[in-house]
Amino acid sequence: MLVAAGLHKTYGATPALAGASVTVAAGEMLAVMGPSGSGKSTLLHCLAGIVRPDSGEVRYRGRSLSELSDAERSALRRGAFGFVFQFGQLVPELTCRENVALPLRLDRTGRREAERRADEWLARLEVAELADKRPGEISGGQGQRVAVARALVTEPRVVFADEPTGALDSLNGERVMRLLSRAARDSGAAVVLVTHEARVAAYADREVVVRDGRTRDLEPVR
Ligand code: ADP
Ligand code: ADP
Repeated sequence: MLVAAGLHKTYGATPALAGASVTVAAGEMLAVMGPSGSGKSTLLHCLAGIVRPDSGEVRYRGRSLSELSDAERSALRRGAFGFVFQFGQLVPELTCRENVALPLRLDRTGRREAERRADEWLARLEVAELADKRPGEISGGQGQRVAVARALVTEPRVVFADEPTGALDSLNGERVMRLLSRAARDSGAAVVLVTHEARVAAYADREVVVRDGRTRDLEPVR
């Protein structure tokens, strides 16, 4: 579904990717592992069409991202792709329900329908009771579960998760991963999970290791 081949990317004199290739199959969770600074985030950003590689190619459902117009690429990011970051990046002025409904509202879904679907996703992430609270009133782990609900509410085909548990203790991290993997499986979304923690990567179907901007495939985790 998503295929990257021979990606190179240099920031000034700093090589971030030096020949990275990955394949993401529909519905699978792929963990991208590797030490800090190895190029994991840059790889994720290239896969998601946020960063343009200097060379190499990313194809989504057979179409090269570089062949798409800016408008088509951003439509892809809003529709087929969902994002979860290390820090939830919820809008502080909005309630959790409104945060989760936001991607639907931006896509012109009516308020009632958007909030109904937001409530459904909050329930799936086991944070239904937080619907009327604002991000400042909830914990980091709860915030990440709301962020996962927001990433999935549009029913994306690929969720990009960059260290989604990086700011959480291990108990809350496990909880977010359990809920994220279940929710993605239920909705058939593939997940590209960037992490440096083996315990987090253990939730994935497969892992790829990035070292000095190069990828190396490993055997299936399980
Ligand atoms: P990781 O996610 O594995 O920590 P990154 O992809 O963030 O690795 O970074 C890979 C290399 O590219 C690092 O040396 C980093 O400092 C550099 N880098 C990443 N993004 C930028 C940027 N926007 N500007 C300059 N250098 C960057
Ligand atoms: P800059 O103009 O500073 O080089 P970018 O490299 O982010 O900025 O983007 C340059 C152009 O490439 C923009 O039109 C952007 O939309 C597009 N672009 C971004 N990501 C990709 C990608 N993965 N493949 C092809 N084009 C991309």
